Amino acid sequence: MVIDRVIIIDGILSGTLAWPMLAAMNKVRIPIALQQAVMRCLREKLRLAAEHFAEEFAEPKIVYQQRGTSAGTAWLQAWEIRLNPVLLLENQHAFIDEVVPHELAHLLVFRRFGRVAPHGSEWRWMMESVLRVPASRTHGFETASVQSKTFPYQCACQRHQLTVRRHNRVLRGESEYRCRRCGDKLRFIAGETHELNDL
Ligand SMILES: [Zn+2]
Ligand SMILES: [Zn+2]
Repeated sequence: MVIDRVIIIDGILSGTLAWPMLAAMNKVRIPIALQQAVMRCLREKLRLAAEHFAEEFAEPKIVYQQRGTSAGTAWLQAWEIRLNPVLLLENQHAFIDEVVPHELAHLLVFRRFGRVAPHGSEWRWMMESVLRVPASRTHGFETASVQSKTFPYQCACQRHQLTVRRHNRVLRGESEYRCRRCGDKLRFIAGETHELNDL
């Protein structure tokens, strides 16, 4: 990856520019029937994995706290799956059928193969051969309701918020941003296994 611009920006202290959806997200309540459907899907896929590997896997913790346009994230060390409550409510079973196996596959791949490419051959194989679902890297859910004007970044000393335009330049490898105060490179704050992907 070639970075053609290094950009130094002033930090915005965390709290100064609050995540726009945060207040709304905290009010989201997932109906118990939907939570049960999530757990049914999770357990069914875990059972397929247990049969395939002749090994029991601990049930991952499910947290309904994923923000932004990501549908979900897999937290490998914590053995935890974070689901986007807004996208879950809006898409219901289509969301569950796609996102739960996707994130579970990341955890299982980590357990069996260690740290490998997030959506590499091991993950595809886990999705298709073990969990028996199509392997798709990104979701097609409508994200208008969870769009944010800024993206959270972190340097060594503080939190920054980057605009969509700057964030996209980072994702495309066109720009790199540095904190004016500490000189550290700004890193996007996302799930452990997800840097560029929406799922
Ligand atoms: Zn800094
Ligand atoms: Zn993924």
